[in-house]
Amino acid sequence: MQILQSADLIVPDGSSILWAAKVLKKPLKARVTGIDLMQLLLKEAEKKGWSVYFLGAKPDVVEKAAINVQRKLPKLNICGYHHGYFDDNYLPLQQINEAKPDLLFVGMGAPRQERWLYTNKNQIQCGVAMGVGGSFDVLSGTTKRAPVWMQKRGLEWLYRYLQEPKRLKRSIMLPRFVGLVIAEKWRIVRGGD
Ligand code: UDP
Repeated sequence: MQILQSADLIVPDGSSILWAAKVLKKPLKARVTGIDLMQLLLKEAEKKGWSVYFLGAKPDVVEKAAINVQRKLPKLNICGYHHGYFDDNYLPLQQINEAKPDLLFVGMGAPRQERWLYTNKNQIQCGVAMGVGGSFDVLSGTTKRAPVWMQKRGLEWLYRYLQEPKRLKRSIMLPRFVGLVIAEKWRIVRGGD
């Protein structure tokens, strides 16, 4: 929580956040996924001449993602990429700092990517850094996004579970999250602030 709150911008990536915001009467306008925001930023970077660096995913995945993105956005300056399975920070940090990207996309899964960015923030030389979860898997074609009708109905999570059943172990957090939201709602109804 402390790491997230230290960010300059936090976007509601998951349907559960939108649900919680609605229950707590602080509704959010829309879901903003990491992959959508990243794709918009990549287009903008091509137009504005910003350089971009990709960090995360398996070596062949991040490479394929860079190739696919370059094919779609031929003028985009992809100044480097590195996989996300390293024990020692030295190499990726050195490469990033040599490239000094305007935009650094880190896709090592939450909360690993947020911890990495927070721990290294004073050493990373870049414009804006953003955690993008499994976006390189999507950009490389390794995993698929849910059909738009599922995205619109807040069912993308279901599609992701069907595609990657091992993600199910994460749902262990869900009842606790629902419980915390309901407890907060109760606290507000009973006259808390
Ligand atoms: N990953 C990584 N380093 C690790 C573990 C995972 O780069 O040590 C990558 C993994 O290959 C995948 C992404 O992080 O590309 C994890 O995506 P996931 O869908 O789990 O993240 P989420 O979107 O749920 O945060």
